[in-house]
Amino acid sequence: MGMLNGKVAFITGGASGIGAGTALRFAQEGARVVLADVQDEEGERIRDEIRGQGAQALYVNCDVSDPESVRKAIEATISEFGQLDIVFANAGINGVWTPIDELQPDEWDKTLDINLKGTYLTVHFAVPHLKRAGGGSIIITSSVNGNRTFSTAGASAYSTSKAGQVAFMKMIALELGRDNIRCNAVCPGLIHTNIQERTEQRHTEEIGIEVELPQGSPALNEGEGDPVNVADTCLFLASDLGRHVSGVEIYVDGGASLL
Ligand code: NAD
Repeated sequence: MGMLNGKVAFITGGASGIGAGTALRFAQEGARVVLADVQDEEGERIRDEIRGQGAQALYVNCDVSDPESVRKAIEATISEFGQLDIVFANAGINGVWTPIDELQPDEWDKTLDINLKGTYLTVHFAVPHLKRAGGGSIIITSSVNGNRTFSTAGASAYSTSKAGQVAFMKMIALELGRDNIRCNAVCPGLIHTNIQERTEQRHTEEIGIEVELPQGSPALNEGEGDPVNVADTCLFLASDLGRHVSGVEIYVDGGASLL
């Protein structure tokens, strides 16, 4: 008996890294999962992997910064599975890490549009369906960066978006409690995904500067975390195990931000 039997989960950024790892974990626990992303090939590959394990999955192309795109993706979820119980607003980019006097307005906008406005849009279009289901769980991927750790100089747009997600999460938890909808955030430390490579590539190839990324989780002496570490925390928050937990951010960083 899976912990998420009978549930439908909508996961943005589900084609890669933390989103894909969480989709696989949720599916193992009996959920029907929807992967919403802009990377069609990768998303379809993860969908097929989940289906290959005997679970139900759907991939939808969805740009979380575009209202119409998010609305359609939620609509596709409902027409495929008829309900929605769990929302994982996880899609995100690191943006450009650069000194504030060099950070361009369009880069600021892009980071805030995907990370923060994308979170709002996902929740906005999902909530009516969670209410219709009689309740649900919303999980937002924020970060240690902007909430507890401020060591990555140049990450002002990213950190602002990640701190904004936590404030948004708390307001939503307050607002939706009476509808039996819980809302929480996971704040990962350094997790091994494609995001680092994408960030390094953009910096070196497009902007021509080297970026030094933080290394590992020294408190646990085990280097980078794995997406499954975040996925297990999300499973706690999505399932009945987390039934009395709402309005909190949980740091999944191996204790790194204590140092
Ligand atoms: P990732 O790059 O592997 O996955 C992010 C996914 O989001 C990708 O599949 C990408 O295509 C998708 N995405 C990007 N823009 C999108 C858009 N406009 N619409 C829909 N999808 C879009 O990276 P990840 O590390 O798995 O990142 C997931 C989340 O975790 C992000 O919000 C990130 O900020 C956060 N996070 C990651 C780390 C880390 O160390 N990896 C640490 C803290 C927080």
